[in-house]
Amino acid sequence: MGNEICSMKYAVVLMDGASDYPIEKLGRKTPLQYAQKPFIDFLSARGEMGIVKTIPDGFSPGSDIANLSVMGYNPEKYYSGRSSLEAVSMGVDLSEEDVTFRCNLVTLSEGEGDFFDKVMVDYSSDEISSEEAKILIDYIAKRLGKKLKIPGFKFYPGVSYRHVIVWRNGPLALTLTPPHDIQGQKISPYLPRGEGESLITDIIRESYELLNSHPLNEKRRKKGLKPANSIWIWGEGRKPMLDSFYDKYGVRGSVIAAVDLIKGIGICAGLDSVRVKGVTGNLNTNFEGKARKALEELLRGKDFVYVHIEAPDECSHHGDLEGKIKAIELIDKKVVGILWKGLEKMVRNYRIMILPDHATPLSVRTHVSNPVPFLIYDSALDRCGSESLGSPESNTGAKDITNIKNMKSEVKKRVKSKIRDSKEEFFGCESGFNEVNARRSGIFIKEGYRLMDHFLGKNEIKY
Ligand SMILES: [Zn+2]
Repeated sequence: MGNEICSMKYAVVLMDGASDYPIEKLGRKTPLQYAQKPFIDFLSARGEMGIVKTIPDGFSPGSDIANLSVMGYNPEKYYSGRSSLEAVSMGVDLSEEDVTFRCNLVTLSEGEGDFFDKVMVDYSSDEISSEEAKILIDYIAKRLGKKLKIPGFKFYPGVSYRHVIVWRNGPLALTLTPPHDIQGQKISPYLPRGEGESLITDIIRESYELLNSHPLNEKRRKKGLKPANSIWIWGEGRKPMLDSFYDKYGVRGSVIAAVDLIKGIGICAGLDSVRVKGVTGNLNTNFEGKARKALEELLRGKDFVYVHIEAPDECSHHGDLEGKIKAIELIDKKVVGILWKGLEKMVRNYRIMILPDHATPLSVRTHVSNPVPFLIYDSALDRCGSESLGSPESNTGAKDITNIKNMKSEVKKRVKSKIRDSKEEFFGCESGFNEVNARRSGIFIKEGYRLMDHFLGKNEIKY
């Protein structure tokens, strides 16, 4: 026990878009109910579960709004757009006059005919690599810059299909549509409306002219990949002004994420954004690397880590049921498992919170505003409990819970007894972390931004 850390440590694991509706193919279970996730279920069985409303009424269910809420910032007070958070993450020094936009590299339907008849085939261009994307973004920046000559207008290449435009004194009074909301639909009803609509539409149309015949897209077609043949502009924003996380909560922390939006929220809140090799924002990401980096940060003196995993959301947008289940299982094994075992070994008192930011149901392939399940596990409360399994270090004859077999059998026992005790119908699912069990707990946090207070033990919440 010599090297054990005594100060309290906090870890959040954010499973982007993991929540869903019951799915026929899964026997009316949700992917969270169906997936094999022994670590997460173990923590939920020994912790607190509830549901939380991360999208306030009147807001659209974006990852920006949802993650602001989870991070403890009331979107009604702090939301200033999505792309500006991404721009901050890219290192752009925004001024008060700057307006920012998200610029996706997308696939529009090809062939002759009117531009306005084109269909949004893929909001991600088959999740184009960042290297290829940079070539295309640099190319249109140069060519469009010469042609359109818009003062103070600049492209910033980002991760995969996600890029940013900064436009000094650009238009803000307009309606733009996220491209992941209109997959398979004609684009014409969703082109920009309002201030600057014709100029932005021209930029999108010109980008198609330039990109559709670009040699890199010829190569992609030959490889059987969708061409990144247009940009799509949305997600307008202004310079964000978040209060410091440290001032709010008195803890120092780091954010570990692949995508600029989440890093940007972290940076604006004064958290460190730490890099992990091989993170991609999809199913091939370095799950394990994120968990190890989180432990490293806590050992180096941070009190708080926010580990964000994008993969379940991407799979949902692509309608990939198997991928979504796989993503949840990988998060369990390679993020939560490693993180929890590391904390058990090295830290005396810690809390883990696990939750999605919003639901991205496969049936609609986009985000919805439903409350999401959360779980909070507190090591101190667990060990004080009468049913304590003992810590891995203890030699009181308690079972070694780092041994997955023992853990699984403990979880099984618990499930059995819970089913026995339950007078209500049990929905035929395990006692684990999912939408149904979270709802049954009766705990509902209506103001999502207050969940962080609760997690960090700053203010007690009345449910
Ligand atoms: Zn999200």
